[in-house]
This record gives sequence, C-alpha cells and structure tokens, in this order.
Amino acid sequence: MKAVVISVGDELLSGRTLNTNLRTIAEFLARFGIPVVRNCTVRDDVEEIIKIMRETLESADIVIVSGGLGITVDDVTREAIARAMGVELVFDEDFYNEVEKRMLERGVKVTEEHKKYGLVPAGFELIKNDYGLAPGYFYEKDGKILLVLPGPPHELRNVLENAAEKFEGLTKKKVLVKTVKTFGLKESDIVERIKDVIEELKPIGSYPIIPGMVDLRLTLVGEDEEKLEKEMEKKLDILRERLGDAIYGYDDDTLPGVIGKILRSRGMTIATAESCTGGLVANYITDVSGSSDYFKGGVVSYWNEVKSGVLGVSDVILEHFGAVSEPTAVMMAEGVRKLLGTDVGISTTGIAGPTGGTPEKPVGLVYMGVSIRGKTFVLRKIFKGDRLMVKKQAALNLLDFLRRKLGEVQ
Ligand code: AMP
Ligand code: MG
Repeated sequence: MKAVVISVGDELLSGRTLNTNLRTIAEFLARFGIPVVRNCTVRDDVEEIIKIMRETLESADIVIVSGGLGITVDDVTREAIARAMGVELVFDEDFYNEVEKRMLERGVKVTEEHKKYGLVPAGFELIKNDYGLAPGYFYEKDGKILLVLPGPPHELRNVLENAAEKFEGLTKKKVLVKTVKTFGLKESDIVERIKDVIEELKPIGSYPIIPGMVDLRLTLVGEDEEKLEKEMEKKLDILRERLGDAIYGYDDDTLPGVIGKILRSRGMTIATAESCTGGLVANYITDVSGSSDYFKGGVVSYWNEVKSGVLGVSDVILEHFGAVSEPTAVMMAEGVRKLLGTDVGISTTGIAGPTGGTPEKPVGLVYMGVSIRGKTFVLRKIFKGDRLMVKKQAALNLLDFLRRKLGEVQ
C-alpha cells in the first residue's frame, strides 16, 4: 500500500508557509506501515487540483489532500474534489446546523457564505474536526482511499487522528521505529563509522535543530512484533558499539531532559552565566518540566560591568584577555556557581555576529565553561551560520559538553 499527498495552497508555493502538514501526514501513515511515495503541491486552482487528483488516484492506493477547505474565494478544494470524482456537492442540513451552532457559541456573525461548510461531496463520509469548522471528507471504494483534510496544522492533526480507525488493519504489517539521538558527530562521520553495516541498518539521518546533532531513525517492518523487537535491539547494539557516548538518548529524549535526569539522580543543582546566548541555555534547561528541582537560576551578563560586578570576573582578566576568552568563561562558570550556591555552573561568552568579529576573534567564536564542584573545563568552538544559529549551537554544544563532563566528574 502506497500513499500520495496532495498539498493545496498558494502560500506553500510562494514559500510563505512551510509544508509541515506533509510531515504530520507522513508520520501518521508510517504508524500503519504505509509509506508516502510522492507529494505534489498545487495552487488554489480548481483545474489544477482536478488534474493532479485524476493522475494520482490512478496510481496510488491512498490519496490524502490537505488545504483549501475554508469558505473564502480562494478555497476551492471542496469543489475540485467533487468534480474530480464526478459527484455533486450536496447540502447536509444536519451537519450545517451543528456547524452553525458552534459558530453562534463562538460569537461568529453567520453569513450566507458560511453555508459552504454544509456542502459535502456526495458519497463522502464526514470526519469530525474538534478544533475548526471545516470537517474532513473520507471516501473508500475498491480498496482505494481518499481523505481530504483542512489546512490549519492543528486542525489537520485532529481530523487525521479522528480518521485513524480507517487506517487500522489496512496492512497486516507491524512497524517498529526507533530514533537514536547523537551529538558531536557530523552525518558524514557517522556514515564513516557504520559504512559496512549501513545496508543492514538502513538508518535515515536528519539534524532537526543544528548540525552535529544528528537523529538516526531505524524502521523495521514485519508481521511478528516480537521478532521485530529482537531485531531492533541487535541493530541498536551495533550503533551503541560504533557511536559510543555520542548517543545521548532515544526517541523523545532531549538533551536538556537527559541532563536533568543526571542532575536529579545525583542530587545536584545548576546555575547559568550567559553572555552571547542571552539566556538561551536557561531557556533550554527550563523546557523540561520539573527543572526547578535542579535549576536555581541564571545571570545574563552581557556587559563587562555585570561579568565583573555580579559574577566576579576580574577586571584584569577582562582587560588583558577580553570578554570573549577562556579565562573569562572559567570565571563566569565558577562565579555563578558560587553566587547561586550550586554544584554546577555553566557559561557562554562569544561573538554571535554578524558584526563584532576580528581576525583573532572571528564571528562564531564561543567559549563555553563548565564548573563542577571546583573542577572547571572550557570548550572553544567557531560556529558557522547566522546569529540565531550561532546562539543555538553555542547553547546546545555547552549542554552536550556538560553531559560529557558530568559523566567524567563524580
Ligand atoms: P487553508 O484553509 O487550507 O487555506 O489553510 C489555512 C492555513 O493553514 C494557511 O493559511 C496556512 O497557514 C496553513 N496551512 C495550509 N496548508 C498547510 C501545510 N501544508 N502546511 C502547513 N500549514 C498549512
Ligand atoms: Mg489556502
């Protein structure tokens, strides 16, 4: 069984909106062992939608269309579906009354235009939309499935879930997916380390946040769940042996979450002293629910006055080595640890750019400090990318550095 996704919307083609619905749909279908083999993005144009629908319905078992189900003039998907399938749009009075009730509850001034919500391509089943007014439309015939979904991402997700039962049991196949999360290796480094087993593992790599933070996704398809689990364990063992401590977690694990677990299990507290990351490190740490168990607080020490006055970085060091330097990173990490009375202090100081670089201290240069109960370490890196990318890379590289140092210092 194979699926094709048709994405409808001028905004997708102009680049104003990223097609995140494709990802949602593909991940949803993967749960049922159904791969998406093609995606077509088309304009809000009746003729184009009809053309692409006729083409894809011939070749695919499952066609999923998203977008264009609103009631403004540019929303033409409903009409295109009906025409492509050679059916009428019929007014469903009961359904419309329900929609109208919801509109009145929300204080919407109901107009004649809203009646469009009641139009349903004949022979299609309505799929409930708990978050919006446009429902999904489902059609099944001769083993082929057509599902039409509203465009707003949270509504699309909801309608898809409401249609989940339609996809259960379509294939006997069980799908087992595991994501191995790594830090510190480029995708090419990883390939180098596993090239002799790459055909066997068939990993799909991606770096969702920054380069050097690679997710490896392993997918197994089969009929016997127990066998799949065993096979997956074997593959994971191979990756663990080849990638070692570059692996920081699996599936939904996050770097700050993993660090939180380590700190909590050891009863340790942490504080941050940030310059170039402007609070991003503290932000990542507090993304984790329950982080108040170990995160006491932080100082964003942008001015030298704050580095020296609040954190106790010596003026001599600031003058002699500069704010962006190894000794400053050390004194910031140690300073905030003492200031807030924590076991761990971490720091960043660098040049996020695009201005402010010099030949000796180029844009992207960042020093990251980790002070654990009196032992202090510094990592120096030069990151590429725009200002936000430098900040993200600095914050996450610091967190990974901390993870590794927590493993070394008892
Ligand atoms: P629509 O009613 O289909 O025109 O979509 C309403 C809004 O949903 C659009 O303005 C977009 O912001 C969003 N949207 C539509 N299609 C997609 C998509 N494929 N991916 C992400 N967002 C989308
Ligand atoms: Mg649209």
